[in-house]
Amino acid sequence: MDNAPRIGVIGAGVVGLTVADILQKNTKAKITVIAETFREDTVSSVAAGIFRPASTFKGPSKEITKKWIHDSWHYWQDILRTPESPKAGIFSFNCYVYSTKSYEATRNRLIEDLVPYYKQMSDDELNIVGGQQKYGSFFSTVKIGCDSYLPWTEKRLKNNGVKIIQEKVESFASIAKKFDLVFNCTGLGARYLCGDEDVIPIRGQIAKVKAPWLKAAFYGDFADTYIIPGIDGLATLGGVRGYDSYNTEFNKHEAAAIFERCYNLLPPLRKAEVLGHRVGLRPHRAVVRVEPELVGDLRVVHCYGHGGYGVTTAPGTALYAVNIGLDLLKTNSKL
Ligand SMILES: Cc1cc2nc3c(=O)[nH]c(=O)nc-3n(C[C@H](O)[C@H](O)[C@H](O)COP(=O)(O)OP(=O)(O)OC[C@H]3O[C@@H](n4cnc5c(N)ncnc54)[C@H](O)[C@@H]3O)c2cc1C
Repeated sequence: MDNAPRIGVIGAGVVGLTVADILQKNTKAKITVIAETFREDTVSSVAAGIFRPASTFKGPSKEITKKWIHDSWHYWQDILRTPESPKAGIFSFNCYVYSTKSYEATRNRLIEDLVPYYKQMSDDELNIVGGQQKYGSFFSTVKIGCDSYLPWTEKRLKNNGVKIIQEKVESFASIAKKFDLVFNCTGLGARYLCGDEDVIPIRGQIAKVKAPWLKAAFYGDFADTYIIPGIDGLATLGGVRGYDSYNTEFNKHEAAAIFERCYNLLPPLRKAEVLGHRVGLRPHRAVVRVEPELVGDLRVVHCYGHGGYGVTTAPGTALYAVNIGLDLLKTNSKL
């Protein structure tokens, strides 16, 4: 064990903890997770957490993007099949995507051949939400509630000997002597840690309401409006997409717009008690960065820039990153 490689994972959002979990299951390495923030203080905890990639989520090629999405789906399904899934905050439900404009706007070609059930809506299904919606797609999917998944994963990591440290990493050089390999899962933090100006915040704001009766997800035109159920009876209402905005303050006007659109889409929500609001900055990058780099003498595998789809795709990108990292260790390659 003393000769075991020392691996650091920077970041404790859904990406960092999933990388650490996969590493812990597949190596005898000494693993340390270092992060400035954990659990409710991460962007991951703000996410609605629905498995629903969109065409703005991109890897370096179409094939790799598809692989990441497919591997992610199967990873979440594997947890869903275990008795642990409620503790991990993972459950399955149906999702109705509506449009007043076109059928095409409701389609999701990335998952049409992946999820167990995917079809164009019938007139009956269109009428579930009242008369205005003209087009729709309907599919089965899962939600990963990070308010459960992050502490559940963190606990398993600790139980399996992974060291967890709360600390801001100021530079790769500052930790270079401590590790043989480092995974950089810092989300928007990569903008500062690696000076990567291609990582751009997309501001999001959501409301949490008490709606234990809500058992399906609903999207309005162009996914600007969404209503996602929670395993705990709390629904997430959204949304907002503020490109290049660093503002993490709650905005009451945006909240009012979210309520108006969600109530129009699903009128029974008007009676749901409002429990609070959250704001988060999605770490967007035109191409999600999963690749190795030699920084000084330190081998780094980057895994960041998942934008609005990091909960959906964390496992596929994490598996890809871990394979790159373990190959580097096996071949003792400096890159
Ligand atoms: C309103 C909203 C709704 C969303 N809904 C969904 C959804 O339904 N489905 C979906 O798939 N995605 C959704 N997302 C997107 C999702 O939240 C992100 O893609 C995902 O959380 C990114 O995860 P991450 O681990 O990369 O980043 P984060 O959760 O931000 O974690 C980054 C980690 O790195 C640490 N860190 C950063 N810099 C440093 C440093 N220098 N030193 C030490 N630690 C550092 C941070 O402290 C943190 O622990 C939503 C986002 C928002 C804002």
